[in-house]
Amino acid sequence: MSGTAGTAICLLRCDLRHHDNQVLHWAQHNADFVIPLYCFDPRHYLGTHRYSWPKTGPHRLRFLLESVKDLRETLKKKGSTLVVRKGKPEDVVRDLITQLGSVTAVVFHEEATQEELDVEKGLCQVCRQHGVKIQTFWGSTLYHRDDLPFRPIDRLPDVYTHFRKALESGARVRPTLRMAEQLKPLAPGLEEGSIPTMEDFGQKDPVTDPRTAFPCSGGETQALMRLQYYFWDTNLVASYKETRNGLVGMDYSTKFAPWVLFELLWRDYFRFVALKYGRRIFSLRGLQSKEIPWKKDLQLFDCWKEGKTGVPFVDANMRELSATGFMSNRGRQNVASFLTKDLGLDWRMGAEWFEYLLVDYDVCSNYGNWLYSAGIGNDPRDNRKFNMIKQGLDYDGNGDYVRLWVPELQGIKGADIHTPWALSSAALSQAGVTLGETYPWPVVTAPEWSRHIHQRPGESPHPRGRRGPAQHKDRGIDFYFSRKKDAC
Ligand SMILES: Cc1cc2nc3c(=O)[nH]c(=O)nc-3n(C[C@H](O)[C@H](O)[C@H](O)COP(=O)(O)OP(=O)(O)OC[C@H]3O[C@@H](n4cnc5c(N)ncnc54)[C@H](O)[C@@H]3O)c2cc1C
Repeated sequence: MSGTAGTAICLLRCDLRHHDNQVLHWAQHNADFVIPLYCFDPRHYLGTHRYSWPKTGPHRLRFLLESVKDLRETLKKKGSTLVVRKGKPEDVVRDLITQLGSVTAVVFHEEATQEELDVEKGLCQVCRQHGVKIQTFWGSTLYHRDDLPFRPIDRLPDVYTHFRKALESGARVRPTLRMAEQLKPLAPGLEEGSIPTMEDFGQKDPVTDPRTAFPCSGGETQALMRLQYYFWDTNLVASYKETRNGLVGMDYSTKFAPWVLFELLWRDYFRFVALKYGRRIFSLRGLQSKEIPWKKDLQLFDCWKEGKTGVPFVDANMRELSATGFMSNRGRQNVASFLTKDLGLDWRMGAEWFEYLLVDYDVCSNYGNWLYSAGIGNDPRDNRKFNMIKQGLDYDGNGDYVRLWVPELQGIKGADIHTPWALSSAALSQAGVTLGETYPWPVVTAPEWSRHIHQRPGESPHPRGRRGPAQHKDRGIDFYFSRKKDAC
């Protein structure tokens, strides 16, 4: 396209913002009319690939709807609006090209993973058929893909530390773009379209849990407010390194992840890993083509996803995720390790459950981290396994986090809450806990946990907890009971 001419369709995807948005920036300088467009793609609301939970659960859907509303308001203040349609972007764009007759360019940010790349292919086909220019940008990483010291992408290191060191010593972050205060108008006569509701997707507004560590709404406005608060109003960023492993409350970490605004190096890395490995990030054998006999035991999996494993630190985290759509990084690492290393379940079951529930779900970060936790991704250390009891004691020493999410254990004081099965019958009864009734027996225990369970003088553990070596062994794991239907 030469100079200013015609109409540009700006297809917004995971970039629902005006700030530093190269798609809007380019269109503003290269078209007479600009159509910022968001499509609610029906494929995002179908079942997950293997286990068929809705791909977008209620927490993220609400966040998305808020983000769309917020962007529409922002764009309106700048003389434009956000056009909203329900449909596949390829179809919506084709209809707009035919309807308007003046479209000269379709502009969007490129993605890195298969389904998103398939959409891009479809868009290119439509544009080719109609003689419309395609203009794309790379915009979802802090360091631009073209500024990486590793070219082609196959040369991306498989060890994160090598990646980080190379970037820190050589690469630079590009400056942000100066965006226009007034935007070009929409093409004449175009309806902006109504924003759907939760009910339109067959979902209900989730109840906001007062215990949530993520009480934010979606949208660029909220994201900028959070930045202002975290960096300038409170200077919380100064203590991030000390607080980032926290579990309770809003301020232990940035909570930037769902806005895609502040991508740090891990986030960049997993996106580049997706570029390098393509579909392999979704494969059972992972990046290392490792043959591991993963199990697909749905009953055991239900215990994990419902927070009823009988391991309080795991259960607290899983319940927080279901109730709020958020879980701390510390929690995510632990429950992922528990699912893959303690339970030996197919890592993709966990990844798809996270995909369904996380407010900040991001395909590259999620699958990249799951591969890493499962020991088939980019972790140079072989067989890294978290010790659930040690982790609980290290990061929730007094048990307050567990008490918040597993109220049926509230009567157990201090750190003992992490190992209820090791308490005496008297201690359990004093706390109002009956294992197997008010709270489950652990579905599994690992030998290394015993190092962190200390008997009180004069107390002997509950007879079942004392039973010692497991009733059966499975991949080096001691099971306290065989997995019956009612195990959880
Ligand atoms: C099994 C598992 C699954 C995960 N799934 C996702 C996901 O779907 N989406 C997602 O954004 N993050 C994911 N993470 C990474 C991390 O847990 C979240 O980014 C973080 O908890 C979000 O909270 P925050 O914004 O307060 O993070 P902070 O600790 O404040 O970090 C700041 C930002 O850095 C980035 N970041 C930090 N750690 C990581 C990491 N390990 N991987 C990638 N980016 C990181 C995020 O953009 C984050 O917002 C996952 C981690 C694990 C172990």
